[in-house]
Amino acid sequence: MARPPLGQNFLIDKNIVRKIVRAAQLQPGETVLEVGPGRGILTEALLDASGLVVAIELDAALCGRLRETFGARPNFRLIQGDAVTFDYAQVPSPFLVVANLPYYVSTPLLFRLLDQGRRVDRLVLMLQEEVAARLAAAPGSREYGVLSVAAQFRCDVRLAFKVPASCFRPSPKVGSAVVALTPLARPRVAVGDERLFFRVVRGSFAHRRKALPNSLRDEGFDAAKTAAALEKAGIAPRRRAETLSIEEFAALTDALSPGPPRSDGNVRKDVLY
Ligand code: SAM
Repeated sequence: MARPPLGQNFLIDKNIVRKIVRAAQLQPGETVLEVGPGRGILTEALLDASGLVVAIELDAALCGRLRETFGARPNFRLIQGDAVTFDYAQVPSPFLVVANLPYYVSTPLLFRLLDQGRRVDRLVLMLQEEVAARLAAAPGSREYGVLSVAAQFRCDVRLAFKVPASCFRPSPKVGSAVVALTPLARPRVAVGDERLFFRVVRGSFAHRRKALPNSLRDEGFDAAKTAAALEKAGIAPRRRAETLSIEEFAALTDALSPGPPRSDGNVRKDVLY
């Protein structure tokens, strides 16, 4: 029995599994992390195509079934646990993430996975279509937001293909899509204080319909300092967060930052999204 609260919409279409594995461009010796292996339809293909598969599954009954099916495969490691709180330092890097994610926790999972930085070579993820669109969204679109900036700051993002609900049992109520993310060697833009950058991005989007100074003020930024920083960064104060490029968020952050902007691209590691 599938457990809907755990986002258990199992893939039943082997053609989609092949397409996911092809999108991941798996090489024989590579390590793959799979979040939510479920009944193992994707796991089996990953085991065939890679060096090691580390799979994290929350559901104890499914873990029992996975151990029975794949326990004898030498390149299979199963972790029974919660992928949202899992310590990813345990996975030997570099690794790929290939997964049909449980949709109810896809956003916190994405932030955790993006936080792994260059420990992850690439990510090929099935997501609800709306989240996939947010990841790839450009400034000016309705979908553009914190998730878009966070993903594109660190990764190249490509919408690979859509997947109809009929490819799952039970069928999800939302559309699905596969997204490929490739972490960049360095963040897309150099910014002096990465923690402040994400505070600015979150604060700017906290009240999407308001102009930037008002949204930032409501999130605790000093109004006079914000006005001066917007001017310094060449950003008109009437603009709203959804119109700003990642470069403009970085310029605004550096203008708000008490210290001089750094130009070497070496950013702090303690990112707080
Ligand atoms: N990979 C399988 C497939 O494609 O058929 C199952 C995908 S299903 C969408 C999501 C899976 O994630 C389920 O097996 C569910 O039990 C598991 N899951 C849900 N929440 C989880 C969590 N917090 N950590 C790890 N696995 C989780």
